[in-house]
Amino acid sequence: MTLIEPHPIDAPGTAEADWRSWPRLNELPVLDVAGWPSLVVVAAHPDDEVLGVGGLLSMAAAAGTRLRLVAVTDGEASHPGMDGAAADQLAACRVAETVGALRELGAPVEIVRLRMPDTGVARRETELADQLAELVAGFSRCLAPWDGDLHADHEAAGRAAAAACAASRVDLLSYPIWTWHWAHPRDSRVPWDRAVRVPLSAEVRRRKRAAIDCFTSQLRARGGARPPVLPPEVVAHFLRDQEVLIS
Ligand SMILES: [Zn+2]
Repeated sequence: MTLIEPHPIDAPGTAEADWRSWPRLNELPVLDVAGWPSLVVVAAHPDDEVLGVGGLLSMAAAAGTRLRLVAVTDGEASHPGMDGAAADQLAACRVAETVGALRELGAPVEIVRLRMPDTGVARRETELADQLAELVAGFSRCLAPWDGDLHADHEAAGRAAAAACAASRVDLLSYPIWTWHWAHPRDSRVPWDRAVRVPLSAEVRRRKRAAIDCFTSQLRARGGARPPVLPPEVVAHFLRDQEVLIS
């Protein structure tokens, strides 16, 4: 008999308490986000930007940074098994959830939607890199999903952003999402020596929590016995008092 290991994202994950009790996370260098003239955030799916860097976005907006969000997909594949019309409805719902979440963050953001296929970003990676090179040109920073996140869309978006930023000479920082689930403290698969942190004030955390609460399609059970896409133990990783990025 062959036992097939579940994908790390589908396997039970690391408890947030384990991350919070790991001293090294609190010893990472602090990233100063004040004084950034402009910032592009690349999201593979609606909610990546808020989970990964919602606090940073809120702080940058308060500091007057010009913000652009590049939404690579509309997230129509988060509930597998839907037919075309239902998937279109889900996409519209997720797009609206993002708009509501950005409002909670107090972040006036220009949103550019690329409408690439959810779960199919890797097939369009070269085209994505070309589009991103134009969309990041002239901005001072870019934030994108980490290309080691073990989610195919996140990794493809991360690689495309890296190529685009190199071509357009824009500084790139990467944000992990599923890493907090499948990795563990001291995990050698994560380049901790390149990690930096952004401490969040109580007010910024409150805004981020309200923004995350907008993603009801991901937070609610999916019918039958299927758990939410984002169960409470996963959401807990994004409610901590800092955000971690990889430089
Ligand atoms: Zn995602």
